[in-house]
Amino acid sequence: MALDRFGRNIHYLRISLTDHCNLRCVYCMPEDMTFRPTAEMMQDDEVLMLMRLFASLGFDKFRLTGGEPTVRARIVDLVRAMSAIPGVRSLSMTTNGVLLGKLAQPLKQAGLERVNVSLDTLDPARFKAITRWGSFDKVWEGILAAEEAGLLPVKLNAVVVRGFNDHDVGEMARLTLEHPWQVRFIEMMPFGGATSLQLNQVVKAEEMIERICAEVGPLKPVNEGQLDGEARIYRLPGAPGTLGFISSVSLPFCSACARARLTADGKLRLCLLREKELDLLTPLRQGATIDDLRQLILDGVWDKPWGHGLAEGLFATNRVMSEIGG
Ligand code: SAM
Repeated sequence: MALDRFGRNIHYLRISLTDHCNLRCVYCMPEDMTFRPTAEMMQDDEVLMLMRLFASLGFDKFRLTGGEPTVRARIVDLVRAMSAIPGVRSLSMTTNGVLLGKLAQPLKQAGLERVNVSLDTLDPARFKAITRWGSFDKVWEGILAAEEAGLLPVKLNAVVVRGFNDHDVGEMARLTLEHPWQVRFIEMMPFGGATSLQLNQVVKAEEMIERICAEVGPLKPVNEGQLDGEARIYRLPGAPGTLGFISSVSLPFCSACARARLTADGKLRLCLLREKELDLLTPLRQGATIDDLRQLILDGVWDKPWGHGLAEGLFATNRVMSEIGG
């Protein structure tokens, strides 16, 4: 078991498989992004080796992210190998959905359990404005393909940004009246100057809830408002689907955080919004023993920061979101 010094059991690893992406969402990545050299990125055998180590230390929940994980070469083979690692209880992916139309079925067959698809609006023009390069129809096709393939429950992630899609939350919420999906609204996390968005464009969950109640109907808490992972879950009357609110800015869930992140260049990052990282790939390439690497991970986890410093105005500036994986 990997414990931190506050007694939290850290058992959830989010692995970024690439810093490349086929979209350029305004809150995530600059349009003229410079990528790291491929040689600095974890190769398939290195990702698998590190994942085995984490699993041997009690990590049992893994999420593949990016950049865009589906643009990684041999992604289906990689998922197949990952799902066979002993101790992997849950293997899921966060994706923009662009390539799910063709990949959902093979990924499911390879052992992927479910997907979270990022979708910020149902309006094709606004979708284009937010993602810069995206096609709404392609992503919608991907979401339906994921459902058809059995990557369930389908969860949709909407980052809400004032001036872009804050007026769309009601319409997004209505999706749960027709589909057994979970639509999750995420407060935008500002990345100190890395994108052009500002703190005043953060829309708090409270404001989203008020808007949905006014436009669609009353929301009833599921699980008496307890956190489900990082989200508080609600349901509209009679809806087959649910709504989740992730209030990373206004109501952080740091005390319950069980996560660590592995960046595509093999750095262990213990808090999304803190710059501190621990290099695992260099020691691995320099011949560190399994025991050395296990100890490095345990030491890193032990030093996991208590929480982020957004409330004190502290922003991480060493990476943009696409380089960490959300
Ligand atoms: N490309 C994939 C996708 O679009 O889902 C995976 C990577 S993306 C970095 C992972 C998640 O982070 C997405 O749900 C995305 O919306 C979210 N995200 C990106 N930038 C964010 C920000 N500034 N604040 C909050 N969430 C953000």
